[in-house]
Amino acid sequence: MNTILLATKNNSKIKEFKDILKPFNIKIITLNDLNENFEVIENGNSFEENAIIKAKYIAKETSMLTIADDSGIEIEVLDGFPGIYSARFAGEKTSYDFKNKLILSMMRNKDNRKARFVCAMAIALPSGEVEVVKEYIEGEINTSIKGENGFGYDPIFYLKEYDSTFAQISANIKNKISHRYKASQAVINILKELDLI
Ligand code: IMP
Repeated sequence: MNTILLATKNNSKIKEFKDILKPFNIKIITLNDLNENFEVIENGNSFEENAIIKAKYIAKETSMLTIADDSGIEIEVLDGFPGIYSARFAGEKTSYDFKNKLILSMMRNKDNRKARFVCAMAIALPSGEVEVVKEYIEGEINTSIKGENGFGYDPIFYLKEYDSTFAQISANIKNKISHRYKASQAVINILKELDLI
């Protein structure tokens, strides 16, 4: 069985990713399983660049096949903001309740509420070879915070098809439609092509 290092400590992302990869015969370990702390400076100008920087660096340091993701939310009327700054926007240590309220106030009186979640995933080999994919899910910024499921910006991301925010639908459904799910599928295709699964 091949082992893949998932380069994150985010338990919500880990759970989502493990659920998605459950049908495959792969052992997944994460940064929580390693004793080392990696200081990766995500100074890329795009989701793809940041995912590549993280995956390549950690694959080299650990000598493991590594998958790293960079994700966030892009709001059309704000020219894609917060985009790659989704985690850092308004300070990395501020709560998502605060960040969500801030976005709702920035979106007050805006008619165009189109937004999308973006997920770039890079797969890196210790040798330095790397592949990257990027996927989206389109939705809208809701006018209020709704729902308890998920994490981050889920309570303000509204999906017309479900008449719900991402935080109001079950993890089961989210994990079959999300940006991360789609990027994971693309990664699975690459792993298959490389004969790794
Ligand atoms: P990353 O950990 O650097 O990829 O940062 C991702 C940022 O986008 C964080 O602020 C997350 O909360 C947010 N984000 C990414 N994916 C999702 C999602 O599926 N739901 C809610 N927020 C997300």
